[in-house]
Amino acid sequence: MKLKLVAFDVDGTLYPNWVMYLRSIPFGIANFRKLLAFARVRKRIRTIKPVHDFYRLQAELFASLMNMTIPQAREQIDRVFYSQWEEVLLDIKPYPHLREVLMHFKSKGCKLAVLSDFPIGNKLRYLGLDSFWDAAYSCEEIGYLKPNPEPFNLLAAHFGVQPHEVLYVGNNYRYDIVGAKRVGFHTAYLHRFPGWCPAADFKFSEYRQLLKWVESEKE
Ligand SMILES: [Mg+2]
Repeated sequence: MKLKLVAFDVDGTLYPNWVMYLRSIPFGIANFRKLLAFARVRKRIRTIKPVHDFYRLQAELFASLMNMTIPQAREQIDRVFYSQWEEVLLDIKPYPHLREVLMHFKSKGCKLAVLSDFPIGNKLRYLGLDSFWDAAYSCEEIGYLKPNPEPFNLLAAHFGVQPHEVLYVGNNYRYDIVGAKRVGFHTAYLHRFPGWCPAADFKFSEYRQLLKWVESEKE
């Protein structure tokens, strides 16, 4: 496995999701209805094609569920889900040994990227990891959320690499691992109890295991 690019999901992959959920409790209580509606919109939007204007479509779906105008929906999504939610992550710690993994890949000459369904915004800086990346993409900007192939393909095209030269690391089996595998990437699935996951080339519950795996792989 000769890797030229290693790409990571962000939420739940660079830092533990439970920390975010715990910190999100006050936010969730204050925005309960909006949160449910937004989750429904995000689920639905993954199945719609073609998408001409992702943000407009997202606002339309949210507006119809929340019974509000599209400009109101857009304003609420921006304020509540993009700005306030990001603040929850202020000073959050990345997973242990993630830095070693990133430094290992760098020392091997690999490019590093993040690909998240959500806007990257300040998250990498809040995590203290902003100096590592050669590219940071939000699928929203590409117009399609994971597991659609477009964001994965665009990532490979950006770096001019073949799918088999890419490793994608994620914590959501359906979106990250199945999506990345379908375009031909190698996949590493971060999960404490991974269960049956045939699309994952490697499963791990802490980053030292991933490091061991890539070190043991023959080039
Ligand atoms: Mg995730």
